Amino acid sequence: MISEAALPKDSQQQLRMRRFMMSLAMYVLASVPQGVSLYNGISPAWVMALWAAIAVVTNLAFYLLFRCGLNLRFRDPSLTLPQMVAAIAMVLFTQTYAGEARGAYLVVLLIIMVFGCFKLRTGQLLGLSLLTIAAYGLTLPLIQRIDGARFDLAVEMVLWCSFSAFLPFISILGGSISDLRKKLMASNAQLQEVLQQVTELATHDELTGAYNRRYLLEMLNHEKNRTDRGGAGFCVCILDLDYFKRINDSYGHSAGDEVLKTFADVVQPLLRSTDFFARYGGEEFLLFLPQTSLEMAQRCIKRIQDALAEAHFASLPPEVRITASIGVAQYYLQETVAGLIERADKALYRAKQNGRDRMELAPFHRPILI
Ligand code: GH3
Ligand code: MG
Ligand code: MG
Repeated sequence: MISEAALPKDSQQQLRMRRFMMSLAMYVLASVPQGVSLYNGISPAWVMALWAAIAVVTNLAFYLLFRCGLNLRFRDPSLTLPQMVAAIAMVLFTQTYAGEARGAYLVVLLIIMVFGCFKLRTGQLLGLSLLTIAAYGLTLPLIQRIDGARFDLAVEMVLWCSFSAFLPFISILGGSISDLRKKLMASNAQLQEVLQQVTELATHDELTGAYNRRYLLEMLNHEKNRTDRGGAGFCVCILDLDYFKRINDSYGHSAGDEVLKTFADVVQPLLRSTDFFARYGGEEFLLFLPQTSLEMAQRCIKRIQDALAEAHFASLPPEVRITASIGVAQYYLQETVAGLIERADKALYRAKQNGRDRMELAPFHRPILI
């Protein structure tokens, strides 16, 4: 069963409209026995005509409410209770004039109660069924007047008693189904939440919120295959914080953790939504820039270096600067992902050797893609 809470607003409206269509189908079905009753002279023509007119006007009104979204202004936007009350009133009206075919209409009342299990609580269903029983009871004197000599009080009492016994029973049954449905919805919503958490854990690094190594390698392999089949080229950059061990040693491990978090927070907003930034391990990060030339990658790294120079690290004294050494490599056709990362790593090693706080490019000796 669909959890309404978990659905986007549009889908919730679609679901309500679908349920309304189901109840509309019941009216269409009901017109068949009504027609037969009319054809055989059981119900008067004016009753059938009035029933049809009320049914059309009421359902048109509900349809417009759903269509224009006006139902959203009600506490229960599914409008289950008003739809049920309207249907019950129409059935009670027609059954009054249905003569000996009255029993058939009483079955419809039971079915209307089942509709309530989409939304109503047991108490509401029970209340509605008691009101229906009372209203049906009140129609009996009217039926006696209409049927005249044909009115058999004993038969009517049996009908009324069995109806009064079974309607509350159906309400309780419907209420239990409704409760079950609600529990199912709640556990579905919980499951969705857990699934989201699991997906987050499986793809992200817990400390920095950046992607994790496994997910990034998966994305890299995917992009490599795409590029090999004719896609645009891409770049990877390895970013390694300089002298990070000293930060831990001087200010403590948790200050180091804060620096890693802040570093990720500084980098992420500078990237395009299509870029992937991952914690590769320890104080090393990997940046994957799809559809990016070496020049574009260099510009991106420059932006990161500038932002890092300006960044404020709350866990460190203001005079302490955090820098990163960066190795950048552009993908060659048919190169393995491991080979590409190794080239970026070698460039990073040169950046460290050449004094840190700098970027080095992996040399290329094959045609590049963009
Ligand atoms: P270099 O400039 O050559 O990269 O020097 P470095 O000190 O940054 O590199 P090194 O590899 O010697 O040390 C990395 C340090 O990063 C050692 C390790 O304790 C620290 N580290 C790794 N993961 C974490 C982490 O999750 N939290 C903290 N606080 N420190 C970490
Ligand atoms: Mg380092
Ligand atoms: Mg390192």
